[in-house]
Amino acid sequence: MIIRKKVWPRTVSDVLSMVFVLIISPLLYWFGLWIVLPGLYGDEYPVLYAFHFILGNFIMLNIIGNFTYTVLCDTSTSGSGRVIPVSTAKVADGWRLCTICECLAPPRSWHCSTCDTCILKRDHHCVFTGCCVGYYNHRYFVMFLCYLCFGAAYAFCYGSLFIWNRIPFEFPMSILKMLFPVIFFGFDMSMDQFYLMLYDVSAVGTLYTGILCIYHFNLILRGVVGNESNKKDFTYDMGWKDNIREVFGERWYLTWLLPYIKSQLPHDGVLWDHLSSKKD
Ligand SMILES: [Zn+2]
Ligand SMILES: [Zn+2]
Repeated sequence: MIIRKKVWPRTVSDVLSMVFVLIISPLLYWFGLWIVLPGLYGDEYPVLYAFHFILGNFIMLNIIGNFTYTVLCDTSTSGSGRVIPVSTAKVADGWRLCTICECLAPPRSWHCSTCDTCILKRDHHCVFTGCCVGYYNHRYFVMFLCYLCFGAAYAFCYGSLFIWNRIPFEFPMSILKMLFPVIFFGFDMSMDQFYLMLYDVSAVGTLYTGILCIYHFNLILRGVVGNESNKKDFTYDMGWKDNIREVFGERWYLTWLLPYIKSQLPHDGVLWDHLSSKKD
């Protein structure tokens, strides 16, 4: 993996979004494993406690690991050591001149004005990681998203058991407290109200990341990135199995386990002409 040189977010929206994720994720982790879990299982069910404690840490490890790999991985055309074969570049194959980078850009690459470089097989610029998602970090980004969704859903399910055992459900006050948690926290700065806020965040987080997961897996299975999907350009759709390999690598079936597991990508993110001609 080529490490990105400038890893810090470059815009205010990137900084705020990244800080939001970096605060909310550990807070939900703390809420789930240090408040909810002892509250539900405590000393009475040590096996269940241990199982959920290990599972919670496994989820958090994957969130941190995949986030770090997404941010650190250089997926630009200018990554050090990356060779762009200028001599074989043809406009007909999708090569173009990037007037901002002043270099030849391979097919499927796009210039990102925030990252200020061309990104190989660019999917989109992610504000939560402060970088672009492209050919080399696509796997880590998708797994980061999946584990965020899994973690939020997990916190929401167990949070439901915990919260409604602790706070008696009263209609309509409980509904209002859930809909406007920050306002109620202003009046009632108790830990119960704070837990209710975190419970709310887990519900919204599950919904938001769940929709994003469905959206991104839909693109992956169809072999397109964001921009190609908008244009309905399915030139590089190789069938769902190969499309999965193109993102998760040859050992795609192991990549959900940990980001540290190596899975060689089948191509280099630069030469795509042989793939598009395969369909002709
Ligand atoms: Zn460029
Ligand atoms: Zn970018």
